[in-house]
Amino acid sequence: MGVPARFQEVVFRSAGAIRILIILGVLLVTACSASPLHAQPARSLNLPPSISIVGTNDKACQDGVSELQRLIHEFAFVRGHRIYLVCDANAWNHVMHHLTLEYGVIVNSRGAVSDIHLRETWFYNEALLKGVDGHNGEFVYAHELGHFLCSCIDEAEADKAAVQLLDDARHNRFNSPAASMAASK
Ligand SMILES: [Zn+2]
Repeated sequence: MGVPARFQEVVFRSAGAIRILIILGVLLVTACSASPLHAQPARSLNLPPSISIVGTNDKACQDGVSELQRLIHEFAFVRGHRIYLVCDANAWNHVMHHLTLEYGVIVNSRGAVSDIHLRETWFYNEALLKGVDGHNGEFVYAHELGHFLCSCIDEAEADKAAVQLLDDARHNRFNSPAASMAASK
């Protein structure tokens, strides 16, 4: 599922002039506040996604990390993407509650939630490993990437993009050197 942009981004998109002023303002503030002691390292947009674990880091959670790493390797990734892997039901409920308060709309997914402007995705580990709502984990992952691809929060559009991504991944699997070696044996 995709969540709507936060208020600032709505303002950004609706008024180009304001946007430029705000960006200048942000740059100025950033320049003034930057010091070796307090500077936070900005996440490079060229890096593959980062994975942060939320909740109980048990065996299933580690399986989820491995699965995520496989998916990140196999699919084109979103630059600077920050992925949260939420590993137990209690933590997932907390995350949904937190996002609901933050966005001011009810956020209630059983699989995953993305903010395409912040380049963030929250995955529920169980959905990633076992699937949810008739979709397997791979589709859950591709659907979230689909939101970034269509740059939209529309669920049907994200599904369409996901089908394309899965097709491409299958095609690459079939045409990879490893696949041809296996096929020639
Ligand atoms: Zn969605």
